[in-house]
Amino acid sequence: MAAKHNPRKILVTSALPYANGSIHLGHLVEYIQTDIWVRFQKMQGHTVHYVCADDTHGTPIMLRAEKEGITPEALIANVHKEHSADFAEFLVAFDNYYSTNAPENKELSQGIYNKLKAAGKIATKTIEQYYDPVKNMFLPDRFIKGECPKCHAKDQYGDSCEVCGATYNPTELINAYSAVSGAAPIRKETEHYFFKLSECEGFLKEWTRSEAFDGKPTLQGEAANKMGEWFESGLNDWDISRDAPYFGFEIPDAPGKYFYVWLDAPIGYMASFKKLCADSGLDFDEYWNKDSSTELYHFIGKDILYFHALFWPATLEFSGYRKPTKIFSHGFLTVNGEKMSKSRGTFITARSYLEHIKNPEYLRYYYAAKLNSSMEDIDLSLDDFVARVNSDLVGKFINIASRTAGFINKRFDGKLRSAANNKVVAELKLSANTIAEAYETREYGRALREIMRLADSANGYVAEAAPWVMAKQEGQDSALQQACSDALEMFRLLTLYLKPVLPKLASDIEQFLNIAPLSWASVEDSLADNHSINAYEHLIIRIDPKLIEALTEANKENLEATPQVAAPLLEKVVVKALAEPILTEAEYISIDDFTKVDLRIAKIVNAEHVEGAEKLLKLTLDIGEASTRQVFAGIKSAYDPATLVGRLTVMVANLAPRKMKFGMSDGMVLAASDESGGPFILSPDAGAQLGMRVK
Ligand SMILES: [Zn+2]
Repeated sequence: MAAKHNPRKILVTSALPYANGSIHLGHLVEYIQTDIWVRFQKMQGHTVHYVCADDTHGTPIMLRAEKEGITPEALIANVHKEHSADFAEFLVAFDNYYSTNAPENKELSQGIYNKLKAAGKIATKTIEQYYDPVKNMFLPDRFIKGECPKCHAKDQYGDSCEVCGATYNPTELINAYSAVSGAAPIRKETEHYFFKLSECEGFLKEWTRSEAFDGKPTLQGEAANKMGEWFESGLNDWDISRDAPYFGFEIPDAPGKYFYVWLDAPIGYMASFKKLCADSGLDFDEYWNKDSSTELYHFIGKDILYFHALFWPATLEFSGYRKPTKIFSHGFLTVNGEKMSKSRGTFITARSYLEHIKNPEYLRYYYAAKLNSSMEDIDLSLDDFVARVNSDLVGKFINIASRTAGFINKRFDGKLRSAANNKVVAELKLSANTIAEAYETREYGRALREIMRLADSANGYVAEAAPWVMAKQEGQDSALQQACSDALEMFRLLTLYLKPVLPKLASDIEQFLNIAPLSWASVEDSLADNHSINAYEHLIIRIDPKLIEALTEANKENLEATPQVAAPLLEKVVVKALAEPILTEAEYISIDDFTKVDLRIAKIVNAEHVEGAEKLLKLTLDIGEASTRQVFAGIKSAYDPATLVGRLTVMVANLAPRKMKFGMSDGMVLAASDESGGPFILSPDAGAQLGMRVK
């Protein structure tokens, strides 16, 4: 690789977690991915700085602090402490972990804004927005709720419906109300500040298709294509202001107007680095000047590509700073093949993992085995996690030392012989470049496959030499010492290759082998004749599958009690494919077919659990007939019966009665569901009376 500096000077960031919730296993994909890359680059001897920060501004933080009866500053200080501890325990080694609510960030944000303004890139425009007349504040989309204009589900967010997946403007909601005060919001005019992104299209089109100094594209292919789609639909100017009350930085010369959290969040990367520079004597300008020859990499999730590949480079370009060298975007985490779910107990916090599984390196190893350079989602299959950690780390890797070190300790006073002439050792050394190339290009899965292939070779060598047999034979001392020394040299090399992923284990092994910290150049070294190792102690243990059960159980209980306000990072439009395709023309039904179904507004007069039924609730429905109807509905997973009594819903009144295990079911209640959630029973709009026909 043709670097501009040798050693290279590299600044790396991970996306800023929002200071309004705990770090969970989904977040950790990115921090572990970044940390492995940073550690690898440091092992190469390059100068690498890895910075991050809590993203602390915006309405959700302000409101949560208010709810907790503390200042936003106190809230973000608590969260910063919690996040820092989580990252440290997962061995994510930031050189600085800062906060966007910092003086450096205020100065940089206001400076950048002033430069954009001087460059003619700022405009003001009067817009109409929803306003909470009780709380006296403008409402972000996520804080307006109401009835979905498409499917009429109640209590949906202002930007999208969680029931039918429709997206819309908050102005389209029916019976909208403020999620803050419950009041009906009013429309109110306000002046907003805009960054003229539409004028940056030429620059951005070129930048998103550009190449870095190494001839490789700035953006991954998938990301560049996504940009292409956005260019096609046209770039809108970016609304960068919010009205008071808002927790953030005030816009210079615009009292009562604040920077939208997404304006100052990425500038937080610079601010965190600026603080690092002040603390350690680095030169900030060398890394951020327009013509800087250092490298800058942002690791992000694919959901915030828009901010990092459009807003961010445009902001930098027109305020006179350098642009990112590359943006590394990754997919989301699924657990057991599905979206993380609180009801399944797979929405697991970092803290909960540490409490139950304890060893963070198991997760680091598993994520690394799954990660590559694409934007594909990665799956944490919990059974596979246990199997792979136990077979690879314990069964293959640690096994090499556990089967050989004891002989060196007991029989040879801890002294080794040189392994210089061993063929398997030579084979292991030959793979150094292949593995380095895989780490460099974020193909960690490939790196680990190669390392485990080498571990198989090493185990094959040990099995063939069978030191436990030699140990019982006369006159085999020299051969025994040689075979065990060879195996430990292989173990040293495997440790070196795994060190970016397993830094703590590698450090324990360095101590056991009595060697200096391994760098990539240590491939060329070897354990010398007469080198003394320390006593071998158990390095890691197998994961007990029972721990996984306890972990998911604990997370089922935990999270139901702590609903969180949506974070701005999640303020994205959810465009969901229909899980069940709509019928095609050949399968159309006539209006007469439809009217055969007698749909009625029904009042739920009673709802109760059914002894022995896992999914069913017994509903008693009134549709204005002489007697009520008994219906068994498969909605137990989603509803507490007590909350259903008195509600109106929709039932099929002329469905043939069905004999079920628990009794006759005389009709059917309509409910929506797919793999993302449900069932959700239907509710008629206000005014509908029981017995009315639905048509
Ligand atoms: Zn809807």
